[in-house]
Amino acid sequence: MVAPYRKLLETIRDAFPKPVSDRVHDSYFVHSLMRAIDAVDALKSERPILGERNPLDYGAARQSRLAEEGKSVEEVTQELVEYCEGLTLWGHPRTQQNVVPPVTISSLIGVLLASLYNPNLAWDEYSHRVALAEVEVVTMLATLLGYDPERAGGVFTFGGTGTTLYGMKIGLEKALPGSLEHGIREDAVVFASDGSHYCRYNIAGWLGLGAKNLITIPTTGHNAMDMDILRTQATHALKSGRKIGGIIATLGTTDAFGLDDIRAITTLRDDLVQEFQLSYVPHIHADAVIGWAWSVFNDYSFEDNLLGFRPRTLRALAGACHHIHDLAFADSIGIDFHKPGFTPYISSLLLVKEEADLTRLRRPQEQMPYLYQFGEHRPGMYTLETSRSGSGTLAALANLKLFGKKGLRVIIGHIVEMAQLLAEHLESHACTTVLNRDNFGSVTLFRAYPDGVDTFNIKEKEMHDPAYRDVLLQHNEYNRKIYDFVHQEGMAGRGVMLSLTDCYRKTDYGEPIVALKSFILSPFVDEENVEMVVKKVLEARDLLASAKGTS
Ligand SMILES: *Cc1c(COP(=O)(O)O)cnc(C)c1O
Repeated sequence: MVAPYRKLLETIRDAFPKPVSDRVHDSYFVHSLMRAIDAVDALKSERPILGERNPLDYGAARQSRLAEEGKSVEEVTQELVEYCEGLTLWGHPRTQQNVVPPVTISSLIGVLLASLYNPNLAWDEYSHRVALAEVEVVTMLATLLGYDPERAGGVFTFGGTGTTLYGMKIGLEKALPGSLEHGIREDAVVFASDGSHYCRYNIAGWLGLGAKNLITIPTTGHNAMDMDILRTQATHALKSGRKIGGIIATLGTTDAFGLDDIRAITTLRDDLVQEFQLSYVPHIHADAVIGWAWSVFNDYSFEDNLLGFRPRTLRALAGACHHIHDLAFADSIGIDFHKPGFTPYISSLLLVKEEADLTRLRRPQEQMPYLYQFGEHRPGMYTLETSRSGSGTLAALANLKLFGKKGLRVIIGHIVEMAQLLAEHLESHACTTVLNRDNFGSVTLFRAYPDGVDTFNIKEKEMHDPAYRDVLLQHNEYNRKIYDFVHQEGMAGRGVMLSLTDCYRKTDYGEPIVALKSFILSPFVDEENVEMVVKKVLEARDLLASAKGTS
C-alpha cells in the first residue's frame, strides 16, 4: 500500500527542473517559461506600462493566507503574470522616468542559470566556476577604472547602498582599528555632499556611527562637493579630536549627474594626514554606481570620433571623463550594473584598490566551524552576507561580454546624445530652462515658466535672491501642475513618462527648487520621443494659461 503523500510527491517532483537529463521534461520547463513571457506580452501596448494601472488594495492583500491545496505550474504562472500588471516598461521609448534600466537577454540568461543551479559565492566549494566569474568581473572593472588589477579586489553585494556600506566599514577599521571586534568606542565622522545618495544616513546609522556623525557638505552650482567647505569641516573635526571614518565622493549624483573632484579630495586627504600627523589614512570611497559606465570613454579618441557622435555629445562625454578618469584615486568604488549596466536587480560590485583592505573585515575561522575548511577562495570569510547569489555576477559578466567596450560606448553615447538633444530643444524655447546645464549625464532637470517671465535670468534670481521667494514657490507649484499633465498624457500613451523632483537643490535662502526630470536610460529612446517631451510641456503651459484666462 503506497502512502497517500507519495502520489502528490510525484506531481511536486514534476514542478522542479529535472536533476538528471530528461529532454521531454526540459521542453515542459521551457514551455512553461514561454507561457509566462507570452502572457506578459499580451499586456503590452503603445503605453509605457504593462496592462492597466489600477488602485492597489492592500486591505485585500492582508487577507491572504496559505491555502490548504497547492496549484499547478500553469495556474501559478497565470497568477504571477497578474502581478506584472501596471509595471513600467523601462525600455519603452516613451519612458524617461528614472535610473532604472531595461535588461538584456544575456543578463536574463545569466540570472536564470544562476537561479537554476543556485551557486553560493560565499565559497568556491559551493560556486566553483561562478567564483571565477566574480574574479573576472572584478579584474575587468578594476582595469577599466584604472586600478592595478594585481592589487585590486572586490565582491558583489546587495546594492549600491551595500557598496558604500562596505566602503565606510573599511574606513572605520582604518580610523578605529579593531572596531569590528570591540565596537565603536570613539566618535568618527563621515563626509558626503548634499547631492550624494540618501543611503548615507542609513549607513551612518546602521554602522553605529549615528547619523549625527555624518557631515553633509554643500555642493557648488555644478552639483559637486564644495572643496573649501570640506577642508574647513575636516580640519575642524580633526582639531576637535575626532577621527575621519571616511569620505564619500559621488561620481554621478542621482538627480543631476554631479561629479565630485576626487583628485582634489585625495590631495586634501593627504594634506590632512601630513598636517595632523594622522596614524591612519582616511578612506575615500567613490560612489560611482551611476558614473562608472562613462569610463569606457577614458580612452576614446574624441578627435577621430569613429562612432560619429555629435559635437555636443562629444563635449558632454569628454566633460564627464574629466572627473571619471580620476576614479582610480579612490580607495574603493561602488558600481551598479543594475543602473547603466542593463542587468536586472541586484547586481552591485564593490571594488577596492588594495585587496588587503577587504581582509580587514575578516572574521576568525573558529567563528565559522561548519564552513571554509578548505578551498582557496573564501569571500564569505569577510563579506557581510553569508549566502551570496551568483545572479548579479553572471548578469554583469553577460553584459560585459555582450557589449564589449564598444557596445557600452554606443549605448552610453546614445543616451547622452538624446539628453543633449533634449537640452537643446528646451533651451530653444524662451519658456523652459535647463537647471543642470553643466552636468554631462543622461539626466536633465528643467523648469517651465508662464508667459511674461524673463527666463533669461530667472534661474539665478530664484536661486540667490530672497526677494524671489514667493515667485519661486509659485513656480514650484506651476511645475507640479505641468508635471501632472505630462504624467497623465504619458500614462494615456500620448506622451512620455517623466519624473518630478521635489528638491533639485535648495536656494541660498533655504527653499527647495522643484524640477521636472528626464532620465534617459533606454536605448530605444529616439529623437521623436525627446521632441515629444517639449511638445507635451508646451501643451501643458497652454492649458494652464487658458485655464487661468477663463477663471
Ligand atoms: C541608486 C544610487 C544608490 C543606491 O543604490 P542601490 O543599488 O539602489 O542600493 C547610491 N548612490 C547613488 C549615487 C545612486 O544613484
